[in-house]
Amino acid sequence: MKPLPKPALDARTAYATCISKARPAKTKARLKKLEDQVATAAADYEKAAAAAALHTLDHLKNQPDDGDKNATGNKDLTGCYTSRMARKGSVGRPLYDQLLAAAKGLCPLCGHGYANTIDHNLPKAIYPLLAVAPANLVPACLTCNHAKGDNAPASAAEQTLHPYFDDTTDHAWLAARLTAPPEPGVSFYVHPHPDWPPTLTARVKQHFRTFKLGKLYSAQVGTELAALNDYLRGKPYTAIMDELQHRAASHGSRNTWQAALYRALASTPWYVTSGYLNEWDD
Ligand SMILES: [Zn+2]
Repeated sequence: MKPLPKPALDARTAYATCISKARPAKTKARLKKLEDQVATAAADYEKAAAAAALHTLDHLKNQPDDGDKNATGNKDLTGCYTSRMARKGSVGRPLYDQLLAAAKGLCPLCGHGYANTIDHNLPKAIYPLLAVAPANLVPACLTCNHAKGDNAPASAAEQTLHPYFDDTTDHAWLAARLTAPPEPGVSFYVHPHPDWPPTLTARVKQHFRTFKLGKLYSAQVGTELAALNDYLRGKPYTAIMDELQHRAASHGSRNTWQAALYRALASTPWYVTSGYLNEWDD
């Protein structure tokens, strides 16, 4: 997970922009009446997100009730996102583009995919008041966006990491484990900091599971190792060790699959001795 700065844009301004061209006047007036509720909901959301308590916002669920039992969320508000913010050419689209641009193309949820969608951290179908709240709108790759779907956390432990509110970069929690020959392989897992509170450990594991990061990262390893093994071939033990330690250190404590992979390789004697000569699963 890659942290991103919380958007400077506030929810009231975003909402006011999105509804500014609503027609006819009756629709606009109806939407305008929700502005205070939208702003209050966003303030509650930000407070809860900062306290890692996004499971406590039951009072915002399915609000305001528009009386349509078959609707997904409040149609005025979910429609506000779909038609007035996400739709190309709409009045709110520059805001959408601005939120997306902050990721600079890299999905902050997996740290690997191309971020070309916006994910509602709390789904708009359940929390329509947060449909256009910038702090609830996170750039994501399509795979991560789909993986999360319309799921909302029912407990503190079920909250995935939030790029605007959570920063776990001070600890290398992503780790890789090598399987020794005859069928060498690499798998990824969460290595929590021993001092982390249990909730944070559970959340990081939830994040790892939700976005299927183990599978995603394992799928990248084959190409990387093929090139590396080729490069190491014929080099003396000390040179190989130096190279691996240098690569591991150059990634610092980052939680990228490359950093985890090189940390694992550099600390696995059999890989340095002869493991790089094997055919690796990819
Ligand atoms: Zn992603």
